[in-house]
Amino acid sequence: MVAITTLDGARIDVGTADVGALKTGLRGGLLLSGDEGYEGARRVWNGNIDRRPALIARCTGPADVQQTVNFARTHGLLLSVRGGGHSAPGYGTNDGGLVLDLSPMKAISVDSGKRTARVEGGVLWRELDAATQAHGLATTGGTVSNTGVGGLTLGGGLGWLMGKHGLTIDNLLSAEVVTADGQLRKVNAMEHPDLFWALRGGGGNFGVVTAFEFRLHPVTQVLGGMVIYPLDQAAAVLRFYRDFCPTLPDEAEAYAALLTSPEGIPVAALLLGYNGPIVDGEKVFAPARQFGKPLADLVAPMPYSARQVMLDTPNAEHGLHRYWRSAFTEQISDALIEALVAAAAKFSSPLSALIFFYLHGAGTRVPEGATAFAARRPQWDFDAIGQWTDGSESATHIAWLRDVWGRVEPHLQGSIYINHIAADDTPEKVRASFGANHRRLRELKAVFDPTNLFRVNANVSPA
Ligand code: FAD
Repeated sequence: MVAITTLDGARIDVGTADVGALKTGLRGGLLLSGDEGYEGARRVWNGNIDRRPALIARCTGPADVQQTVNFARTHGLLLSVRGGGHSAPGYGTNDGGLVLDLSPMKAISVDSGKRTARVEGGVLWRELDAATQAHGLATTGGTVSNTGVGGLTLGGGLGWLMGKHGLTIDNLLSAEVVTADGQLRKVNAMEHPDLFWALRGGGGNFGVVTAFEFRLHPVTQVLGGMVIYPLDQAAAVLRFYRDFCPTLPDEAEAYAALLTSPEGIPVAALLLGYNGPIVDGEKVFAPARQFGKPLADLVAPMPYSARQVMLDTPNAEHGLHRYWRSAFTEQISDALIEALVAAAAKFSSPLSALIFFYLHGAGTRVPEGATAFAARRPQWDFDAIGQWTDGSESATHIAWLRDVWGRVEPHLQGSIYINHIAADDTPEKVRASFGANHRRLRELKAVFDPTNLFRVNANVSPA
């Protein structure tokens, strides 16, 4: 017998014959505690998530995924689906349940003539960017290269190309998905359009996507990099930033961060990216680069692939301990700026950061009801990211971030980019984030996942 956690949190004993049959059936293999490879496979990107699933199904294709979903549904097991394993609250794993691990599913095929790419569910953004950049093409992806294509896409997908080419979901042409009944369905604007609608922003609520098909765009050289200022200019820089963002053309992105420099001092940074003629980008970013007295201006032309890995090290490295809170805001008030600058002066860890991402352009011109992603207006996604290396210090750093959050939350909205949800965010915040789309999502959840098998996510309960 193997003791496994159920959907409602109880424990049941599943017969060794049943577990053995699953193990034999899976081409990718099944890992149990004590098996070689289990310790590595139970880990996710956030090192502060230390969970021990009973079973880890390593899926190599749709047939493995179908068997795993059928096994979970038949026995009523707690199920986590893992793409890149990057979600800060650790949705890609669980304690005592079953993990469906897509990381062996790495196939990518690019059709440079049609400008499309078919991508399996376990691919990371750096792998997809490398494959598409070989053809001088790209689709909107995240700003950190070791994030999974799966989770990022299903939640919406914000990145350097979104102003010009829309969110990642706006470039999704079709998906192959295993729903809770174990059926493999191809979905697009013509086939199962309602499920296709729900997948574009509804997170992992509707099934396991085994493959995504994306539209690609010509992208080669871009202008990118940071302008860095000492903390005593941070308030002025953030006030400049809030006024600068609404002036940006679709080709430009501007993010802002308070963080710690490699020399160990808190700084403010403007993170700039321009996807278009470099000479135009130089003009657009001139006011930002001429503002104040920067410590350094690192903005330069570079290949898009270099831009995509620029933020990886040291802040996004696999295995660091993390606690992350986030919310949208349509305003950056003076009071918010004051609270953030005060917080940055007292970072408890040099790896922590306070970041604004600006949503604008093509991604915000899509009607709110056209996909499940509701946040279709110019606004900032604000992230307070606590990160540290030593797990024994977790209580200190989490307390620091909670204190900061308590001070800044009153100046932010009650909605969030659902890919940045925290374990301690309320269901009301999830509902508010789906906005007017929440009702339709609940109705579709009742059709495609009536028992809420896919619940380890920013969850939508069946109507
Ligand atoms: P996982 O933890 O594997 O999965 C996250 C959720 O998606 C889970 O609920 C999982 O069940 C579900 N899921 C994953 N793959 C599939 C699939 N194939 N089928 C069904 N469900 C699936 N987001 C942005 O939009 N832009 C950014 O620039 C960005 N930067 C980030 C930087 C860092 C350092 C981090 C930690 C996150 C960032 N994010 C960003 C957020 C990111 O999009 C989410 O964390 C996303 O959920 C990660 O996807 P994943 O597949 O790696 O994660």
